[in-house]
Amino acid sequence: MIEVVGLKKSFGPLEVLRDINLIVPRGHVVALIGPSGSGKSTLLRSLNLLCLPDAGYVAIGDQKMDFSAGNVSLRDRDLAAFRANTGMVFQNFNLFPHMNVVENVMVGPVTVLKQDKKSARERAIELLAKVGLADRAEAHPDQLSGGQKQRVAIARALAMNPDVMLFDEATSALDPALVGEVLAVIRQLAEQGMTMILVTHEMAFARDVADTVIFMKDGYVVEAGDARQVINHPHETATREFLSHFH
Ligand code: ATP
Ligand code: MG
Repeated sequence: MIEVVGLKKSFGPLEVLRDINLIVPRGHVVALIGPSGSGKSTLLRSLNLLCLPDAGYVAIGDQKMDFSAGNVSLRDRDLAAFRANTGMVFQNFNLFPHMNVVENVMVGPVTVLKQDKKSARERAIELLAKVGLADRAEAHPDQLSGGQKQRVAIARALAMNPDVMLFDEATSALDPALVGEVLAVIRQLAEQGMTMILVTHEMAFARDVADTVIFMKDGYVVEAGDARQVINHPHETATREFLSHFH
């Protein structure tokens, strides 16, 4: 479960998150939508502490990170332990270019979790099979398509056994023909009960795969509800206006 209470973040005078509150039960999938600059990435980044909020708290599983006393007291070790709760997948893959596919997936477990190389490799191959890439284990990232790179990035995040997966526009940089193969992997994770938050512009996918859709604007959650209801029959004018660009 993810719990976010009273989260605030400003960059100088710009208030990017203004009192964000949300709960994601274990096994639920949330699609986070909203216009550019509304704070979606900042919220995701706050969940794995790539961004340190100014106020509020985030709880994931049985760990809680409280920002109300200020960030200065957070130690690197606490940040690393909390960060391990979440696996994050970005728009631009961020694979290590000098490592082959299986090494990309193994490197976190070996260096951070101190797994031995043999079992880390076995697990990596299993995860590559899960994303349909067992046969590309020895390939280098520059030999892969965008969709394949993104599936490796998903396997790499899963290798750390996170409680929660966060996707920030994981298909936005892809050629349209390659979007489906990545969405299929995310859909499969949803069916297997992974708790996930997806920032996405794929509204049909959000409606079909997410349990809840959250619409953000100007640093606020404007509307949150059942995915079908929010996408098909939004209550708020701002949500309706935003969704009208997708039809
Ligand atoms: P998009 O759909 O374009 O990805 P978003 O909803 O993800 O938008 P954010 O990336 O969270 O929006 O950014 C929200 C606002 O915060 C933007 O105005 C952005 O310029 C600003 N912002 C984000 N990160 C920083 C930073 N590190 N320093 C200064 N301003 C930032
Ligand atoms: Mg963003």
